[in-house]
Amino acid sequence: MSPTSPTSSSLNAARRARDLAELERHPHVDVLVVGGGVTGAGVALDAASRGLSTVLVERHDLAFGTSRWSSKLVHGGLRYLARGQVGIAYESARERDVLMRVTAPHLVRPLPMVIPVHRGTGLARALFVRAGAGAGDLLRLLAGTPGTVLPRPCVLNARQTLRLLPGITREGLLGGIVSFDGQLVDDARLVVGLARTAAREGARILTRCSAESVTADGAVLRDETTGRTIPLRPRAVVNATGVHADQLDPHVRLRPSRGSHLVLDGSVLGRPSAALTVPIDGGTSRFVFALPQPDGRILAGLTDEPVDGPVPSVPEVPDGDVDLLLAQISGPLETPLKRDDVLGSFAGLRPLVYGAGASADLSREHAVTVSPNGTVTVVGGKLTTYRAMAEQAVDAAVRAHGLPAGSCRTRSLPLVGAAPHEELDALDAPRRLVARYGTEAVGVLAEADADPTLLTPVVRGITGAELRFAVRHEGAMDTGDLLDRRTRVGLVPAERSAAEDAAARALDAAG
Ligand SMILES: Cc1cc2nc3c(=O)[nH]c(=O)nc-3n(C[C@H](O)[C@H](O)[C@H](O)COP(=O)(O)OP(=O)(O)OC[C@H]3O[C@@H](n4cnc5c(N)ncnc54)[C@H](O)[C@@H]3O)c2cc1C
Repeated sequence: MSPTSPTSSSLNAARRARDLAELERHPHVDVLVVGGGVTGAGVALDAASRGLSTVLVERHDLAFGTSRWSSKLVHGGLRYLARGQVGIAYESARERDVLMRVTAPHLVRPLPMVIPVHRGTGLARALFVRAGAGAGDLLRLLAGTPGTVLPRPCVLNARQTLRLLPGITREGLLGGIVSFDGQLVDDARLVVGLARTAAREGARILTRCSAESVTADGAVLRDETTGRTIPLRPRAVVNATGVHADQLDPHVRLRPSRGSHLVLDGSVLGRPSAALTVPIDGGTSRFVFALPQPDGRILAGLTDEPVDGPVPSVPEVPDGDVDLLLAQISGPLETPLKRDDVLGSFAGLRPLVYGAGASADLSREHAVTVSPNGTVTVVGGKLTTYRAMAEQAVDAAVRAHGLPAGSCRTRSLPLVGAAPHEELDALDAPRRLVARYGTEAVGVLAEADADPTLLTPVVRGITGAELRFAVRHEGAMDTGDLLDRRTRVGLVPAERSAAEDAAARALDAAG
């Protein structure tokens, strides 16, 4: 058998060229979505699945912006509940349920999150946290998420706590409080899954293509690979450019905030199987986390620092953030972390909204606004709630421009690769692949049918077959796309260097 043939969801250079040529001939479309992060990809899927002709343009690559720099948690909304924002809390829990049970069961797993409790430190806080965990569980129940999908919180004794978190200080350990949330195998894969599902529904997904200008009369796109400009006549434009949203719509005012994470090897925390949750400064409302990843690494994060001035396209982690996180995570550890333990680091910018004109509902943590020229902007929020945000943005575009749309279908529309767990469990493919590709894991393996050496791991289990699949079906156009977004090899610079040749070979072979 040869590699899998392109399908209606496959994104690749040939499809991109065809779509661009088609747009030059026929520039009239219903919806132009600007931005290929989780929000824009979600909007493109929502619009296309309502029967609207849809184009998404992304200046760089899918998930190039904030969407790949998250903590990868699918939140249940507990912290909103703590602030009395019951509506948002419920929305978050409901969206978590949709992701875990319908749209992307292959990409999201339950993650135990443990706060260890030591003698003399924070028993009152532990009781508070236990009460919060109970409230969070109520949200789970209200959202209809069964305990088989997301277990109930409980109190652990010292031995159980150490089993989950072997690296914490033993002396004086009384136990721990465990609660469960969702964890994405990889945030960038959610974005790629959304974009490909949108493509399956008929959307044109154009990476390396920016929106240069958007006015009431139309938009001007620029093909970043050739410099060519392409005029477009969309009936509606949705601005989903995250921290860049104020550039396309000056009515939106943002106050970006930097969140940094460190990449550590699991061994430095004794290979934990739960997230270590550390209250900051002994409080009960802010925490840092050491989050175990499916590949054995740990992401330790995160900071929250306001950023002034021009927004960089790839934010850097300042030394101060590294020192702060090492000190905070080390608090409950037997052996404090050191600089040498840091294998890599990354930072993302939160697109926090602090003004968006009269129509913004800022209590939602995201804003959907319509500017005087008719551009709909959707900004802020969370990865977890992308679907609800997309639904509201498309509703706003339909209302503002009288678009001929059906009703929203995304709540019951599984993404490419999604299937119930029984079906995923029965797939004849390595579990690591199933967790990242779902039912498409079989197609990834088929890339190696003619050349079994493609199944030899390049680095950390990632194979040439995955790299080829990414070029042929997932729209990867260069080594950066392959190593930094379709796979996350690039999170550790030394491993990125080791994988560059294999990435170049995959591009040559598929080209
Ligand atoms: C550190 C951190 C941790 C987080 N952790 C979590 C978490 O654990 N769980 C959770 O639910 N949420 C989390 N969030 C929030 C979540 O990551 C963001 O809300 C979300 O990713 C924003 O996605 P977006 O699509 O709106 O923006 P982005 O992902 O930034 O996408 C915007 C895209 O627009 C493109 N673009 C900009 N201008 C143009 C143009 N003119 N033409 C074409 N393209 C353009 C950019 O290249 C970019 O790719 C976290 C955020 C941060 C910063």
